[in-house]
Formats: sequence, C-alpha cells, structure tokens
Amino acid sequence: MPNTNLNNLAALPLEALVACHECDLLMRREPLEAGEKSCCPRCGFELAVHHHQWQRRCFALVLTALLLYIPANFLPIMHLTLLGQTRSETVWSGVFGLFESGMQGVAVVVLLSSMAIPLLKLLSQLLVLLSLRFKVARRAGMLLYRSYHHLREWGMLEVYLFGILVSIVKLIDIADLSLGVGLACFVALLLTQIWLEMSMPAHQVWEALSDE
Ligand SMILES: [Zn+2]
Repeated sequence: MPNTNLNNLAALPLEALVACHECDLLMRREPLEAGEKSCCPRCGFELAVHHHQWQRRCFALVLTALLLYIPANFLPIMHLTLLGQTRSETVWSGVFGLFESGMQGVAVVVLLSSMAIPLLKLLSQLLVLLSLRFKVARRAGMLLYRSYHHLREWGMLEVYLFGILVSIVKLIDIADLSLGVGLACFVALLLTQIWLEMSMPAHQVWEALSDE
C-alpha cells in the first residue's frame, strides 16, 4: 500500500510522489513489477498498471489501426437500394454529401472528429513509439504525446458509429439495405483504437520519454 504520511512525503522530490486523480490523496510512488498495479488506499482508484512489453504490443496495434483506417473510411459502409437505384455510402461520401447539401459546418465537424483527428492521434502514437524505439527526438516525442492527450477529447469514432447504427435502423424499413465491408473495418478500427489506448500506459510512456 502506498505511503501517505504527510511528514514523510514533504522530504521527497516531486518525481517520487503521485496524487490520486479521483480524491487528490498524495502518496509515495511505489515501483511496480510487470503485471502489478497500484490503487489509491482511500478511494480505490487504479493509479497505475505496469504493462509488460507494451511497446511491441502498441506497435502492432497502431500499425493494424493505420491499415484499417483507409478501408474503414473509403470502402462502403452500406448499400442502399431505393426506387430501383442502388447507392454505396462511405464515411467520406457522407462528409461530401453533407457539404453538398449546404451543411458545411456539420461536414467539417464530422470530417474532423471521424477522419482527421483519429488519423492524427494514430500518427502521434506511431511517432512517439518510433522515438522510444530508436531513442531519438525525445523532446519532439514529448510534444507529440502531449498533443495526443488533447486530441483524444476530439476523436469521436464511437459517436459516429452510433450515428451509423441509428441510420441503419431508420432506413431498414424504407429501403433495401445491405451492410458493406467498410462497416466491419470501421468497427475493427474502433476496437483496435480502444485496445491501443488501454495498452499504452501514460505513466510508462512519460517515464520512457524522460529517461535519457
Ligand atoms: Zn483516491
């Protein structure tokens, strides 16, 4: 259990301390072995988990996500047949359609949240991993990782997927609808990104980036 005695903590350097994100309790940072995790003794919040070989796993996941990115956005999510005419819809054609129909503001928001920001997040993660792997440009790596934390709040693939599912349910009664391979790639991209975020422990990334 982490040491929380304030008299003992006052003598420690800042790097040796950790504060709970939930209840702000200040503690001594305990070194963790592979697979171990530390929790706040007051509220039980998980402070840190030590992942083993996280860099290799993250490399594989970030490359998988980048490979899925193009089919997820440019292959058909659904095929619609209405009044004898068949159309294939992709994420990109959805953005384009919004723009053409006079909703330029919405088109820009969808473009940013479903295409541009998820791609920038993946590229930031890839460059941070490359900086760690080859021990180069650590300062740039720190800047990129800080930017990645800001971008996280703006990438909304899950909201976009929810929108796709709602439109499928609404359209299924008025048109002949079949799902496309793009939807499978989109779901796989979303799951890969969630797995990647869970596999890339922030405290280990910062420690590795600041370890000269
Ligand atoms: Zn706590």
